[in-house]
Amino acid sequence: MRKTVIIFAAAILCGIAGSTSAYGQESQRQRLVKHLYTLAADSLQGRKAGTDDGRRAAEYIKRQWQQMDMMLKPLWGDDYSMPFEQQTPLSSQSNFCNLVAVIEGNDPALKDEYIVVGAHYDHVGVKDGKIYNGADDNASGSACVIEVARQLLAHQKELKRSVIICAFDAEELGLFGSKALVKVLKSRNMIDKVKLMLSVDMVGWYQTNGSLVLQGSGTVKESKSMFAPEKLGVDINVKFKPFENSLFTATDTEPFAEAGVPTLAVTTGLKSPYHKPEDDADLIDYEGLDRITDYITSLTISASRYNGEPSSGRLAAKHRSKTLDIGFALGYNTCGLKYPDATFYGKEYHGFQGGLMFQYKLNNFFSLRAKAMYDYSHCPLPAADDAFGKGFGMEQHSIMVPLMLHMGINIMGSGIYIGFGGYYGRELKGRFYGDVPATNPAYDSNPNQAGWAVDFGLRLGGHWQLDGTWYKQFTNLFDTSAGLPKARKNTYALTLGYFF
Ligand SMILES: [Zn+2]
Repeated sequence: MRKTVIIFAAAILCGIAGSTSAYGQESQRQRLVKHLYTLAADSLQGRKAGTDDGRRAAEYIKRQWQQMDMMLKPLWGDDYSMPFEQQTPLSSQSNFCNLVAVIEGNDPALKDEYIVVGAHYDHVGVKDGKIYNGADDNASGSACVIEVARQLLAHQKELKRSVIICAFDAEELGLFGSKALVKVLKSRNMIDKVKLMLSVDMVGWYQTNGSLVLQGSGTVKESKSMFAPEKLGVDINVKFKPFENSLFTATDTEPFAEAGVPTLAVTTGLKSPYHKPEDDADLIDYEGLDRITDYITSLTISASRYNGEPSSGRLAAKHRSKTLDIGFALGYNTCGLKYPDATFYGKEYHGFQGGLMFQYKLNNFFSLRAKAMYDYSHCPLPAADDAFGKGFGMEQHSIMVPLMLHMGINIMGSGIYIGFGGYYGRELKGRFYGDVPATNPAYDSNPNQAGWAVDFGLRLGGHWQLDGTWYKQFTNLFDTSAGLPKARKNTYALTLGYFF
């Protein structure tokens, strides 16, 4: 299998060499084929980040940039290399390298603003003796961005904003290359000048997918009309998705989006055998990749010429906060007893609760929320001489664990939500108290409690939230076999939470 791939690659490379001498000029499609078969060759051993194989992939891209008709200009100094260090438990390597270049815009007012077009060039290397060539993931995006850069250079006069071209390293280890670039852009006060970021990741399966997908069009103003293929004059089927929302895929847009930059994740989806040894160059749709390259070039030119602020002011919730949030909450509660067999209702007294919150974001609208709250509450009990029990009651220390499904709308990290679910409560300590201790009955509760839980709240910015929760018990608070009445607790809590 691998052998065939190599022979096929060699044949194509010879073919290209032949056609170059015969016609003097390679077509873009021929160059895309060459990049793919080079970057996804077995000889590069899966381009694992931080290894010599990874560095050789970077060298290839560097040479392509240098050999363009007009050499691509490094963004900083006279070298494209942006080395960075990152310790990670996932890899014994810790030295990585992005490549960064710039194509300067021409508008005096806009040339200090940037569009970033990037693709990660690393993949996962060799596992169990099998080479993971990563043709779709992401030799396809790397090849595409090389050719986008070449076309942009040829159209440089049309650019108003400048374009930063980037080959990211160590994406597969945790988006380290894009995070490192964002860090440098921040330290040079350039991040606010970045008006759009495109991550071209897995674009080799156009025909099978049936379209090119732009995830994040909702972050850019007028994106659907500005980036319509008809308008850009490219024959390609494009699907616009307002936001990235997959839990299972991440790409280099993330650190940019977290820094407030509008982003587009450009992809032909997950149809390829990505992250499998079968992801080889012979499966790539070169006709599709050629069109995608033309389309991204036109899109970038169009975005660079957009008058005004391209940001819609909206960012995907996925990018506004981590998928799993942990925080703490503290607040007030009031609690009363309900007696299902009686017509009266115990008066409410005051208590407090505090503890930890966990939130797991499912998508832009739904999340799962759990809390582990220490709860102190007390409520009056009816007594013979005082049916509404002002001077006679019970107090309880317990742990309450509500688990709820939250639905809400989020705008720039703030929003409102409602949640429904249930809770489990475990009594730690409880006692009756009253004016006449001698007449107090024995405290005989059921230590395990359960009930419904309803939440209503406000999320304020990225960290704070105000939560109103109603805990409605459906188990009996007391041991009815000991002659105590059926009683169920209603607790209303108002807590202020902070997510880290
Ligand atoms: Zn990838």
